[in-house]
Amino acid sequence: MIANVVVDIPSKNVDKIFDYKIPPDIEEIVKVGVRVEVPFGSRKIQGFVINISEQLSSDIDMSKVKSIIRVKDFKPELTPELIKLSEWMANFHLVKRISALEIMLPSAVKAKYQKIYQVNDPENLPAHILNRFNKEGILTFDQAQQSEIVTDLEGYVKSGQLVKDTIVGQQLTKKYATCIRIMPTDRLDEIIESLHKKEKQLDILNYLIEHRNEDVLLKTLKEEGFSNSSINTLVKNQVLEKYNSVVARDPYENRIFEKEHNKSLTNDQQHAFTQINEAVQGNESTTFLLHGVTGSGKTEIYLQTIENVLEKGEQAIILVPEIALTPQMVNRFKARFGDEVAVLHSGLSKGEKYDEWQKIRDGKASVSVGARSSIFAPFEKLGLIIIDEEHESTYKQEDYPRYHAREIAIWRSEYHQCPVVLGSATPSLETFARAEKNVYQYLELPERVNKQKMPEIELIDMREELKEGNRSMFSEQLKQAIQERIDKNEQVVLFLNRRGHSSFVLCRDCGHVPQCPNCDISLTYHKTHDDLKCHYCGYSEPMPQLCPSCESEHIRQMGVGTQQVEEQIYSTFEQAKVIRMDVDTTSRKGAHEKLLTAFGEQEANILLGTQMIAKGLDFENITLVGVLNADTMLNLPDFRSSEKTFQLLTQVAGRAGRHKKKGEVMIQTYNPEHYAILDVTKNDYLSFYQKEMKFRQIGKYPPYYYLVNLTISHFDKTKVLKAAKHAHDILIQHVSSKSFILGPSPSPLSRINNQHRFQILIKFKSEPDLLTALQYLDDYYHEQYVKDKLSLEIDINPQMMM
Ligand code: ADP
Ligand code: ZN
Ligand code: ZN
Repeated sequence: MIANVVVDIPSKNVDKIFDYKIPPDIEEIVKVGVRVEVPFGSRKIQGFVINISEQLSSDIDMSKVKSIIRVKDFKPELTPELIKLSEWMANFHLVKRISALEIMLPSAVKAKYQKIYQVNDPENLPAHILNRFNKEGILTFDQAQQSEIVTDLEGYVKSGQLVKDTIVGQQLTKKYATCIRIMPTDRLDEIIESLHKKEKQLDILNYLIEHRNEDVLLKTLKEEGFSNSSINTLVKNQVLEKYNSVVARDPYENRIFEKEHNKSLTNDQQHAFTQINEAVQGNESTTFLLHGVTGSGKTEIYLQTIENVLEKGEQAIILVPEIALTPQMVNRFKARFGDEVAVLHSGLSKGEKYDEWQKIRDGKASVSVGARSSIFAPFEKLGLIIIDEEHESTYKQEDYPRYHAREIAIWRSEYHQCPVVLGSATPSLETFARAEKNVYQYLELPERVNKQKMPEIELIDMREELKEGNRSMFSEQLKQAIQERIDKNEQVVLFLNRRGHSSFVLCRDCGHVPQCPNCDISLTYHKTHDDLKCHYCGYSEPMPQLCPSCESEHIRQMGVGTQQVEEQIYSTFEQAKVIRMDVDTTSRKGAHEKLLTAFGEQEANILLGTQMIAKGLDFENITLVGVLNADTMLNLPDFRSSEKTFQLLTQVAGRAGRHKKKGEVMIQTYNPEHYAILDVTKNDYLSFYQKEMKFRQIGKYPPYYYLVNLTISHFDKTKVLKAAKHAHDILIQHVSSKSFILGPSPSPLSRINNQHRFQILIKFKSEPDLLTALQYLDDYYHEQYVKDKLSLEIDINPQMMM
């Protein structure tokens, strides 16, 4: 038999399928989806078996076909569906097949190669050399290089006492725990007899008999109240034995989730539920847009539809933008479905992630709650896919291999014949436009559950405040409102729009702003080390005491960070107690959730934070939300800047008054007439949508046009320009006059890490020939990259064009 293998070399030249013979003795265990070790040139590498057949896939000489060395998995890591999906991804996004396959797996599965020396002839090796090798006769190349014998080793290789080899390992360590079991099971009656007066020991024995079909942890025995001394006595008398067993890491192991029950649905909820459920029951691959204001009960619909999916014996995926930011969401799923839930997100360790993923693959979990990459959860009978907050930009993977979770969801729904639900209070324009054209089925929840009013939203014109001589972060009105909440023991959320507000350094005398020497970007001040850093290349330098340009002392940091706002809050409000959430306070694992819990338990009256507090917060006592600076995102050079501003402000505003107490929202802005901000105050998505669509139509942007963005970069600017012109010429030949090719022009970030960057933007409605041109360019510039590091990146449906 022949296995078709995709090898683990992320290079265009070997981006094809290779044939390997399957030796008869391992025919049983080579299955589609397993990883294998294969010879490749003079090396040994890892690959994925993507197909098994009787014949070779090309007409080469059978005698030249090499054999698989060994199989690495007992069970396939990939399902046939995911293998097929990888082919589609590779074509659609112009990515290498191996990259598409690997992105579907937890990073722990990725191969790790290690060069080793192996003892071949121990008799003829001197002891001081042999001593260096482990029990298996292995010394890694890394270890050898750190010892004084390294110079001798090559000689022993030549004379045959040692061989060089490569082993393929896994970047994964298993977690073991001590377990206890009964040793001589055939003499059980006899033992029980002998223990008849030792009640404590007998209890242990009975407990173990009762649980004989599972691994019983030593820890569990102790928790059950059995004493260490009794256990040890039994071990010493060889009645019990200790052994190690691999245990799954459960990131939620010490948490108790209160069982939650279904709520009886409101009429609007019921309508949406019925439609989705009919598609579930009828195996229809419909895509729904569930458009519901914050607090309208979307999550409740997710929970109840998933329940029906499980009853049908099928599985469900729910995607959330970033779980670390929405612990309350995980809690609700755990509370409803308990151990059926696997949670996948970037806050877990590699091992934890692998274990959660394995629960899915082994059929032990049937609901996956996770961030972007969990769209690849290896379920075999998918009954429903939900993408919550579908407009979020985190669903697009921005670096190679690029993909959008929404596309993958729709592909999988067609494969499994199951529906997709896209949920949002502020759908992306692309999605809403498709719903308008009935490509997606539109479902609406126009009101909050129990008809709670949407919070009142006020705009505060900061230009007026300036005129009145108020230069602080807080308008008079917001200041009063905060004080009132503090007096009433209610809680306040203050939101600082981070983007464009990183704190750069400016000389007040000559206007000099320190720039990164490698990138065209100003350096950012970091208080912790009192230094200046570049966020794009990692460059850093100490904060200068004098302006490097004019030697003035008046060089200091501009722009506000959360730390400074915190200081201002304390100096303005006497009884303020602030919890601050930003990258600095939440970098440690679990910190985010801890801070939120503390806020929920009223340990502070003000929660101050950046984008990360915009989502998922649901606390009864929040009655005021203040947005300190609404405008920063409006000024970005991005055609989506209005859309993003509208979405973010709507989301932040939605944190207020979600329960019995009335909520109020104050937005401080310098652009109170801008429609993206005005329509937020009116809670009017449709009005915003219609205005924004006009701009998109005039500007020839999505959803009217599709975009492809090409970025060309190299340290030599003339090479970039030449390549850009070449790419432009090729593209022109392959698209019709109805499309637009813009550029080449410098990218908004025109230099990163000394690489000059130019971009070409293609706007089109339908261009059947375009993919061929892009494929050609991708191949051609791959070769240029290998030769000369001249790089061409192709982004299909780009979200960011920096
Ligand atoms: P969304 O996901 O749209 O923000 P949620 O599903 O979180 O809305 O609902 C908001 C709040 O209302 C939650 O506290 C939820 O438990 C509650 N809720 C949802 N549906 C109902 C219902 N039918 N009856 C009573 N309470 C509900
Ligand atoms: Zn830099
Ligand atoms: Zn200066």
